[in-house]
Amino acid sequence: MNNGIIKFFSNGLPVGAVGVITRPRNPKGWKNSHFRENVILNHRTLRGYQMAIEQTLSIIKPDATRRNLTGKINQRFEDAGLRIVAQKRIQLTPAQAEGFYAVHSERAFFGDLCTFMTSGPVVVQVLEGESAITKNREIMGATNPAQADEGTIRKDFAEDIEANSVHGSDSPETAAEEISYFFSKLEIVG
Ligand code: ADP
Ligand code: MG
Repeated sequence: MNNGIIKFFSNGLPVGAVGVITRPRNPKGWKNSHFRENVILNHRTLRGYQMAIEQTLSIIKPDATRRNLTGKINQRFEDAGLRIVAQKRIQLTPAQAEGFYAVHSERAFFGDLCTFMTSGPVVVQVLEGESAITKNREIMGATNPAQADEGTIRKDFAEDIEANSVHGSDSPETAAEEISYFFSKLEIVG
């Protein structure tokens, strides 16, 4: 049984499991009020660490807006516990689509992809929640709807590998870049 000594890495993250904070003690002889405050702070740090709340960029693509599927797709996100903390419907210019998909500029499908992404309005949005980046990729399904799992957005709504209804960031780094491509901090309200 651990007596409640909680060790923290220098970056503030806890060492060891949550179960160690069962019986806090006051090794430094601090005044009770100071000690209580410190324990509460440590609990908060632990909770934040476990939850890993993330934000990710989502785009509802032109094939989906054309078929009036925005609401049905948003329902999937909300049912899975993701919150839509920013959202706007826009018409991408060719330059905006090319800039967004610059990472794919050498791929054979790049020209067609940019033409598709500018063929109608898109809904760009920021989704927030626990492990939002990977959770959204799971809700979306595989790039090619023929390979997407049952119950995913792409399985149920995508037309083909290009017109696949949704985009979702694939890592924390791309999520940060892609969110700032479309949104200022003031437009994201959690
Ligand atoms: P994802 O959107 O699943 O992250 P990628 O980043 O690999 O997939 O590709 C970006 C987008 O480019 C896809 O969502 C799809 O619209 C399009 N795309 C990918 N592969 C192809 C392909 N082989 N042919 C046509 N379009 C493609
Ligand atoms: Mg991708």
